Amino acid sequence: MLLIIEKRTIIELVSMIGGETAGKVMKLLLKKPGITDEEIALKLKLDVRDIRRILHRLNELGILHYELTRDKVTEHRIFKWYVEEGQVTGFIITHMKKILDRLKRKLENEKNNQFYWCGTPGHRKYLFDEAMDRLFRCPECGKPLQPYQNDEVVKALEWKIAKLEAFLEELMKVGKAEEIEEKPAKSR
Ligand SMILES: [Zn+2]
Repeated sequence: MLLIIEKRTIIELVSMIGGETAGKVMKLLLKKPGITDEEIALKLKLDVRDIRRILHRLNELGILHYELTRDKVTEHRIFKWYVEEGQVTGFIITHMKKILDRLKRKLENEKNNQFYWCGTPGHRKYLFDEAMDRLFRCPECGKPLQPYQNDEVVKALEWKIAKLEAFLEELMKVGKAEEIEEKPAKSR
């Protein structure tokens, strides 16, 4: 039932939540259920310890589970990983809602306030009172703090929010479809 949501969407969202590598790990897991941490590391050409960290994090979030076996010859423990199919949709919806909330708060903040900025990428932007306290000089580089036009930021945020809302609406529809489909299975 998980795969009513497109795999591509799942991968994209896991990347958004857990980073690019987490997205790649998810892609492999969806393609090859039961793949081991070592096989994933080999395929992605990454340190197996980094892969294990990602796998355990996704496991803590409840979207993966593993099966523990032993190599018959070497007796080494082998972890085989699987996507927790029933959990993914709910997990993604919860996290997308959180991201959406954060973006909306940020948008409100950008819309309602005039910011002052030195123009150096990475340096903080200040509200009027904060800028005044600093005598309209950036404490990091000393350049003057000037009114900052945030139209571009507002536009970018609005675009992102619209995209996420559309995604979310799609997912909710899928969630409802799943509930309906599950009923006959239970009465078996
Ligand atoms: Zn500065």
